[in-house]
Amino acid sequence: MKTQRPPIIWLNVVIFASSMLLAAVVAPIYFIFNGIGVAHWVWLLLTFSFCNLCITAGYHRLWSHRTYQAHWSLRFIFALGGAFALQNSALHWSSDHRVHHRHVDNNDKDPYSAKRGFWFSHIGWMLRHYQTPEQYSDYSNCRDLQKEKIVMWQHKYYVPLALLMNLGVPIILGVIYHDIIGMLLMIGAVRLVLNHHTTFFINSLAHIWGSQPYTNKNTARDNGILAVLTFGEGYHNFHHIFENDYRNGIYWWQYDPTKWLIRTCTWLKLAGKLRITPAEKIEKAKALQLLNDTKQKIRHLPDHHDLAERMHKEYDALILQMTEYYELKKQLMSNKKQQLMEQYEHAVLKVRYQKIQQHFKQQQQQWQMLMKQYA
Ligand SMILES: [Zn+2]
Ligand SMILES: [Zn+2]
Repeated sequence: MKTQRPPIIWLNVVIFASSMLLAAVVAPIYFIFNGIGVAHWVWLLLTFSFCNLCITAGYHRLWSHRTYQAHWSLRFIFALGGAFALQNSALHWSSDHRVHHRHVDNNDKDPYSAKRGFWFSHIGWMLRHYQTPEQYSDYSNCRDLQKEKIVMWQHKYYVPLALLMNLGVPIILGVIYHDIIGMLLMIGAVRLVLNHHTTFFINSLAHIWGSQPYTNKNTARDNGILAVLTFGEGYHNFHHIFENDYRNGIYWWQYDPTKWLIRTCTWLKLAGKLRITPAEKIEKAKALQLLNDTKQKIRHLPDHHDLAERMHKEYDALILQMTEYYELKKQLMSNKKQQLMEQYEHAVLKVRYQKIQQHFKQQQQQWQMLMKQYA
């Protein structure tokens, strides 16, 4: 007997289908007949990047995972950009996302479980009422966000904000560049479709395609190509094991503009308290995963038992050395800090000494002069 599928969420179906139709069919026809300017392309790139960065730096790394703290003005911008990206309120998005991390790949609990296939994790999960109304509006895992004024304001006025951004921005640009329909198609529809599907790739492709250098306990993958499309979120294997890190691409050569944006915001005093995973933990996770992968690879060899035993021995020695190395490094750093403090204190003391010495000499002269007068 076939189990009944939950009812369709028509509003979402209409939004996804109509924006796709406008972007993929109507927009090209319109621009073939009416021409397209540089402004259309520039603003497409700007608004697309703005919306995606508001999702990655705001919805994801700030609100879902609390990997840093942000000034209210930055949070306000993220709230507007999130409504522009049309991905529900920050509160709702974060709640779903926290469940995703907690129950990753669990088909009954993970709202966009990758184990239910590409289509489901990409978009299917939003097309039917898979959650009960109680589950849908249960924000008990986001009590911290419920205390945030900007988050609650955006949640309350999400629909008018989404309409304002999605119609208001293209119309303003249309008035400026004398092409309201063109801008509505480009900045309204094309931008929205790009925003939607690149973000959705993180739930679908980033759980299917790529490498697993840190863990294979879940389906999340690291993928440099996806990182380009998703503003750094393609390093999803790292992210699922160290979700409290403000970085997803931890190496300097990894493309993670969200990380660069957050760091730039610290220079502007708009962000602070950036959280990072200790290097030792990262190195240990990588070494363990490499050991497990290599053991899998040598399984067909006749002497794989002996080989595996040797690998384990080397691995244990490596972990021992690694622990010692990082422990000493920590000590060295704290010593250096102490030395710097001592150097500073010494310098302050020296300045004080010189000042007092000068005052003393002056007083001595004054005293001697006075005494000489009456000697
Ligand atoms: Zn994920
Ligand atoms: Zn996450």
